Amino acid sequence: MIRVGVNGYGTIGKRVADAVEAQPDMEIIGVAKTQPNFEAHTAVKRGYPMYAAIPERAPLFAEAGIEVAGEVDELVAEADIIVDCTPSGIGEQNRELYETHHTPAIFQGGESADVADVSFNARSNFDAARDADYVRVVSCNTTGLSRIIAPLEEEYGVEKVRATLVRRGGDPGQNSRGPINDILPNPIKVPSHHGPDVKTIFPDLEIDTLGLKVPATLMHVHALNVTLGSDVTGAHVRQLLEQEDRVYVIPEGLGIDGAGKLKDLALDAGRPRGDLWENCVWGESIGVNGRDLYLFQAIHQESDVIPENVDAIRAMFDLKDQKDSMALTDRQLGVGISGDPSGFSEQARAEFADD
Ligand code: NAD
Repeated sequence: MIRVGVNGYGTIGKRVADAVEAQPDMEIIGVAKTQPNFEAHTAVKRGYPMYAAIPERAPLFAEAGIEVAGEVDELVAEADIIVDCTPSGIGEQNRELYETHHTPAIFQGGESADVADVSFNARSNFDAARDADYVRVVSCNTTGLSRIIAPLEEEYGVEKVRATLVRRGGDPGQNSRGPINDILPNPIKVPSHHGPDVKTIFPDLEIDTLGLKVPATLMHVHALNVTLGSDVTGAHVRQLLEQEDRVYVIPEGLGIDGAGKLKDLALDAGRPRGDLWENCVWGESIGVNGRDLYLFQAIHQESDVIPENVDAIRAMFDLKDQKDSMALTDRQLGVGISGDPSGFSEQARAEFADD
């Protein structure tokens, strides 16, 4: 049983903690937080021992009625691995703490690539993280792009990727972010930094990306154009993507015309926090012109990286091979939408219980 600590219990951290707890081969031994906000109370309810990320603030937890198990360095010393889910840039500052205790760590996509030995996406380069001490799970957008590029590259070869990323202004809780009423080329300079980030997973890939930010909190939407190595048909590409467990090819006829309906689908299906761990590709959008493939996909920024963190732990401790790890993660979380699009996560859990 791998003993996991989570440092930074916000949007990503709280999801990582629940995902780790759902696995049979790892457990949460504590989470570190800076303040006793509502998420701290939720963590306590879920039974996660609470550690003070900033020792001087420990009394604030006691005042809020939250028992503190210790300070963050005790959690780091105790854990087999830390999943650092602190805001961008803080992870890099924390690396020294992890090194001091010889505790391996996973960082998130907000950190620059050189924070870790390896940038990771389970579908694309699982084995690169084997036995690594420091791994970075790439950002939500890079995860979303990698999951599409990997099967296309394997099946047809990829000559060039061009992607326009229409990004949500902030997460639902980030009420200080925007724009509120604008459409921002962001970054204005093209190509954007997202392409080079994808190259941390596919070093030889030709890719140009453009970014925008819009007044939305639900999901990102990507418009993709991929020049493939050979002529293909849209039907063939669709079949290929339908075989990917972490890609949901949205069938025609369901009336899912945007990110809002996707989120409704997830909430109706009883998914925790309305999470959509899968890339959501509109089947109808898959179009081919010679070797040029086009498609639209939506990416739930708050949750697509969560299964990847679980798989990164298994890779780092050499617990399972890529296929088995991804299958186990997916079954335990209920990842994968196929067949009857309602109640899919119950079904996935029941299947696992029968094994
Ligand atoms: P967040 O702000 O929701 O959560 C971060 C948490 O860390 C907060 O609870 C904050 O109080 C806490 N924190 C701040 N300083 C700390 C410290 N010194 N020690 C411990 N905890 C501290 O941020 P997030 O959205 O969960 O992002 C975390 C990381 O995940 C970032 O690298 C981000 O780029 C990446 N990421 C975010 C998203 C997303 O859409 N939210 C998607 C993919 C990756």
